[in-house]
Amino acid sequence: MNELTLSCVKSYYQDMNSLNSQKRVCNINQECYKKFMASIKKPDNMNTVNQLLTEANNQINKFPHLHEIEWNILLFEEGEFKFPHTHGDTIFIPYNWFNKKTHVEDKVNTLIHEKIHIFQRLFPLETNYLLVHIWKYEIFNLNKIENVRHNPDINKINYLDQQGSTFDNVYLNDKQGCSQLKNKRDHPYEQMAYWLVNVIGGKTVPNKQEKRWIQKFV
Ligand SMILES: [Zn+2]
Repeated sequence: MNELTLSCVKSYYQDMNSLNSQKRVCNINQECYKKFMASIKKPDNMNTVNQLLTEANNQINKFPHLHEIEWNILLFEEGEFKFPHTHGDTIFIPYNWFNKKTHVEDKVNTLIHEKIHIFQRLFPLETNYLLVHIWKYEIFNLNKIENVRHNPDINKINYLDQQGSTFDNVYLNDKQGCSQLKNKRDHPYEQMAYWLVNVIGGKTVPNKQEKRWIQKFV
């Protein structure tokens, strides 16, 4: 793991509150950090990985900024449920995910989704231009809300939508290990990643302003 990614991992776990640590079946955040770090390994079968990356690259080759970002992939097993996610410039994929019998298209879309999170980290101003000027979300505050799911793929800003509502992803219950959320109002960084994957795959047609933004920045 490179220095940048390691410092992102450290600060992510340092910031984790006790509810989020318990959800990840750890007593304290440092235990989550240690479990996560101890589980990190390189992908076992680079052939499968490279096949998927070739397919993903074919899909994003018309989007130069996204395409140019390097693919750094590591595997993990503990500390962040079993969700693919990112820290720094690296995508973390659960053990066995590459061997799962999921449709290739779904896997490719997930890899592109995660790469968009790295794009958001590398281009925060461009990302926020889309959210604030085009989607008209408002930057509300930076306060942490206690029972919101800690997510390494989003920034620390709480946004308001055009109706003035927040995007809190609050846990459904107190059960350990359960990552289910009360509402599906994902943080704008997640919304943007899903949206852009659909645009890249031709499932969503961007409006004029969005199209201009994509041509300029992605
Ligand atoms: Zn995501």
